[in-house]
Amino acid sequence: MAVRSVVHKAPKVPEIRKGDTVVVLSGRDAGKRGTVERVVRQEAAPRGGRSVFRRGSSAGGVKVVVEGLNIAKRHTKPRQTSSSTDRMPKIQQGGILEIAQPMPIAKVMVVCSSCDKPTRIAHATLETGRRVRVCRHCGEQLEVKS
Ligand SMILES: [Zn+2]
Repeated sequence: MAVRSVVHKAPKVPEIRKGDTVVVLSGRDAGKRGTVERVVRQEAAPRGGRSVFRRGSSAGGVKVVVEGLNIAKRHTKPRQTSSSTDRMPKIQQGGILEIAQPMPIAKVMVVCSSCDKPTRIAHATLETGRRVRVCRHCGEQLEVKS
């Protein structure tokens, strides 16, 4: 079995950045759009160690947290806290915390801000030598407005 040496090719221009609009391709939130809140780069599992990665999710361990999507709901139970200083027992309200979970970038696609289509990213080099991301549909630069 040929084992390819793992060359860590870090792309100079990341495909997905914070602030990008993305559309979800699969899963419960398929078709929904959201803004990338955070890009999570996971280190590869240490050799011989327990692999954190499940089969099928081979997208290099890069994940994105998209605002309002892939929500995990944490239910918190109402609790009665008995405090000796208070006469009345306090009830801590239960509720549902909604936390956006990271999802693999393979599950999302960047939406072009110019033509409003989910697009694959091309890379181009400007005359100034600057590398930019370009929409494959309309050729416009995909720059995150900050
Ligand atoms: Zn476009």
